[in-house]
Formats: sequence, structure tokens, C-alpha cells
Amino acid sequence: MKKIGILTSGGDAPGMNAAIRAVVRSGISAGLEVYGVFNGYEGLVNNNIRKLERGDVSDIIIQGGTILGSARLEDFKLVEVRQKAVDNLMEHGIEGLVVVGGDGSYRGAQALTEMGINCIGIPGTIDNDIDSTDYSIGFDTALNTVIENVDKLRDTSSSHHRCSVVEVMGNRCGDLAIYAGLTTGAEIIITKETGYDESEVLARLRHFEEVKRKRHAIVIISEKITDVHLLAQKISQHSGFSGRATVLGHIQRGGSPTARDRILATQFGDKAVQALVAGEGGRCVGVVEEQLITIDINEALQLPKKTRKPLFDLHDRLV
Ligand code: ADP
Repeated sequence: MKKIGILTSGGDAPGMNAAIRAVVRSGISAGLEVYGVFNGYEGLVNNNIRKLERGDVSDIIIQGGTILGSARLEDFKLVEVRQKAVDNLMEHGIEGLVVVGGDGSYRGAQALTEMGINCIGIPGTIDNDIDSTDYSIGFDTALNTVIENVDKLRDTSSSHHRCSVVEVMGNRCGDLAIYAGLTTGAEIIITKETGYDESEVLARLRHFEEVKRKRHAIVIISEKITDVHLLAQKISQHSGFSGRATVLGHIQRGGSPTARDRILATQFGDKAVQALVAGEGGRCVGVVEEQLITIDINEALQLPKKTRKPLFDLHDRLV
């Protein structure tokens, strides 16, 4: 193999640039030419592909987002659309491709591998919703952004006897909510895994106020579970707290990656290049119990959902 490509796909995540840098530099060190594909699978189909040199990835390890851009292309599920991508790659002589993204991007990578282009997936998503890895690139940075914001809300909510309801990203996977809840000392954490019962939430808040004599409360809730503004109104009506809702939204996607995300992205990028050099395809990299691994993409997509029950139990003991 002489030439490989790299693209970022699906939702962007801080640390994707660190992964691009690692793939480019590690690829060049292995004697390969490395090509950047712009705007995800769309760039493959539109032939938006350019050779990257060492200098093209200077200074990007500290930048959030992705210099290659990301996109969603529903039509990539069609074999004739993917064939165009394969033709473009072959024209450039690119035989292997690193795909940084989530589950959807992995499916695209698997489909391309079956059409003759060896692909290696790197998990990049702030939601941490990929079951074949303990952590994905971007999760730690997003978590730290949530912590920083919730800490600020705590200051003002304790001065005013408030209950802050904070909506965070991640619906299919509640990791941002549970990790943020544990690290900010939130009173209540609501995710898809815990389920949602409005009257129970209100009763627990009344208990915190009347029995535990708490001056304020923080509720962290995953997106798309309920209307948080409505919940805040109910809290004002049915407890002694004044309820206020904050939707953190897209600020969770931005920012300079944390040390942990930079290291993870750097290790994943290098591991993906090694896998391509070894002639592998249709696999994805991950970190499991601190060990770097690669696993078959089809297998990765079929793994059971991770449970966070031990973390919820820990939270219950501390609250
Ligand atoms: P993520 O990678 O973050 O999960 P998406 O689910 O939007 O994001 O997937 C990213 C892209 O991957 C899609 O826009 C599409 O181009 C491609 N993709 C998703 N599912 C498939 C599939 N079954 N076959 C081929 N390509 C797919």
C-alpha cells in the first residue's frame, strides 16, 4: 500500500484534528502518501480529495472541529453512489481509508471495504455512544465543557434557592449526563437508561428541600427526553425551588480538545495507520480497559449497549 486517505464524518467532535494529524504524520513516517478527503463521504463522491503534507497538519492538535469538514450524505447507502467514491479513490491510487466518526460512518466504512477499499474506523463522537470502545474522541472535552457550565450555574442557583435543570447532548447514550452528574454533584440525573417519571422527580426535589434542607438542586438530563423548560415550570409550581432550565446545545461540540482527547486521538490515528499497513480493512480501533484494540466493524456494531448501572448506584449512595 502506497497511498491512504482520511475523512471525518457525521457529527464533529473536538480531537478529530488531533486524529487527522496523527494519521498524516504516522502515514508519512511509514512511507505512505496521505490524502485528505473533505466533507466526509460527500467529498469522496465529489472527488474533493487533496494530498496532505506534514506542514498541512501543523498547529491543528489544539483546534476543535475538523479541518477536513464533516457532512452527512444519506445517498451513501446506495451502491451506485458508493461506486463513484470507489472510482475516485482508485483514480488517485488510494487503497486504504481512515474514517473518523460514529456508528453511521462505520457502516459506510464497512460497505466501502466490501467494495475493495480497506477502511479503518476511529470512534469520534461527543456522545460516547460506540459500544466497541470505552471512550470516543470528543467525549472528554464535551464532558469538561458541561462541567464548566454546570459549576457556574451552581454558583448562581445556590444564591437564589434555585433548581437548575441542565439539558446535555446524548440521547441514545446518557454518558455525558451520568459522568457530568457525578462530577458536578448533581442531585438528579435523567437518561434513557434511568427512564423519566415527572412526578417522581418532583417528589425527590421536595424531599431534598424539606428533609435534606438543600439550598439548591441540579438536575442533569439527556436531550430528547422531555421539554426542560416545561419541567422547570413544574418545579417552580410543585416544589420550594425556583426552576430554571438551560439547554447547553452546540457549545458542547466546540473547544480545544482536552489532554485526554488529544492523547486518545493520537493513539487511535497511529493504530489505524498500522492496521492499514498490515493489510487490514473493515475494522475499527478503540480503547478497552486502557488497552488499544481493533475489532471487526460488523462485530462492533452488534455489541450490546454499555450499561452505566454501577455509576448510577454510586450516585445514589452519594446524593
Ligand atoms: P455518525 O457517524 O456520527 O453516527 P451518521 O449516522 O449521520 O453519523 O452517519 C454518517 C454518514 O455515514 C451518513 O451521512 C452516511 O453518509 C454514512 N452512512 C450511514 N449509514 C450508512 C450505511 N448503512 N451504509 C453506507 N453509509 C452509511
